[in-house]
Amino acid sequence: AIKKECDINYELANMVTLLSAQARGEEVELRFTPGEVPTLSADPEKLRQAFMNVILNGIQASAPGGRVLVTTSYDRQSRSIEIRFSDNGPGIAREAIGKIFEPFFTTKGSGTGLGLSITKKILEGHGGTLEVESTPGEGACFRARLPTET
Ligand code: ADP
Ligand code: MG
Repeated sequence: AIKKECDINYELANMVTLLSAQARGEEVELRFTPGEVPTLSADPEKLRQAFMNVILNGIQASAPGGRVLVTTSYDRQSRSIEIRFSDNGPGIAREAIGKIFEPFFTTKGSGTGLGLSITKKILEGHGGTLEVESTPGEGACFRARLPTET
């Protein structure tokens, strides 16, 4: 993998801009609130792919009038960047939550079920993690963590 010094806020801002037309078409508000985070040695193409997968899932899960929020913050204790992707879609059913990171698991008619498994692998390849919290009926929040020192 090609590693270089990456500005996560810059990458996310670009991705949000890239996907804003798609969000607008679905009448979903897509908003990015950057926090203060250090740069990170990473493969920017891989990270962009990861961010795109999670944001697209959020847009697809949202009904018109819904919103997808992306935020970044830095945790000094663990020296890691935390990225939150939250939406107010239907959330994830209890019986599905253990399966969504498995390849080929999808609840969509024409989904591949590969997005989240690839995304998780990309984050783990950077020494990080991808976790989800969801209250069915209230939305989903995906939390990515990327350590700045590995
Ligand atoms: P795909 O998008 O092709 O279905 P993914 O791996 O990206 O594959 O997602 C797997 C499944 O996880 C989805 O089919 C859906 O059931 C669930 N999922 C992912 N993101 C969300 C979300 N933001 N809200 C609700 N369900 C989600
Ligand atoms: Mg997907």
